[in-house]
Amino acid sequence: MRLRKVKGAAETIAAHPEIVIPNGEALKGNWQSVFEKDQPLYIEVGMGKGQFVIGMAQKNPHLNFIGIEKFDSVMVRALEKVLEAGELPNLKLLKIDAEDLTNIFEENEVEGVYLNFSDPWPKPRHAKRRLTHENFLKLYEHITIPEGYLRFKTDNRLLFEYSLVSVTEYGMGLRDVALDLHQREDLDWNVMTEYEQKFSAKGQPIYRLEAQFKA
Ligand code: SAM
Repeated sequence: MRLRKVKGAAETIAAHPEIVIPNGEALKGNWQSVFEKDQPLYIEVGMGKGQFVIGMAQKNPHLNFIGIEKFDSVMVRALEKVLEAGELPNLKLLKIDAEDLTNIFEENEVEGVYLNFSDPWPKPRHAKRRLTHENFLKLYEHITIPEGYLRFKTDNRLLFEYSLVSVTEYGMGLRDVALDLHQREDLDWNVMTEYEQKFSAKGQPIYRLEAQFKA
């Protein structure tokens, strides 16, 4: 994602602690307390401007969601969208790097993890930065319930191929694979991300996998 600095982003974020939770570490093990209802918690890592996680929260009021993003300039756009969307008691945002997930969430605190159009980091020497690298899978496994799910969409074939191998080598069970998601029938469960809209409008196939950690 090309980043333009947004003036006043940090201040705008700080002015909305009821949405962008400022003290993630203090809530470790106690995340349900920030939501109106105690219900299964899903996170999206690298949410960008938030369209997906907002759509998921609107569609699934029986689930709680946290949208995670590491940059202020992107987070502030997501925050603006949440404010526009109005009352969403089942959605919070968190500005952290995915590397810190295990400092923020307790073991088994999260039901499942969504990754959408994650940065591909095509150079082999940058492979460890890919959000489906083994090191990140370890973090997701630590914070999710036994048999928790990872759900991943991308337009990037090479990242998808890499991710299929990565999750399989890690020992996860593949539960679903789509090489052209939008050709599927009955897609009313699918919430499009900003990137998904952009790439599918250009006719590019969307790849998707659903993988489950072993108990
Ligand atoms: N998920 C959105 C979508 O599909 O439209 C945004 C995709 S964008 C290519 C990837 C986003 O992931 C960027 O906003 C980036 O800042 C964020 N990101 C990348 N690595 C991250 C990390 N380690 N921790 C948190 N966010 C990260």
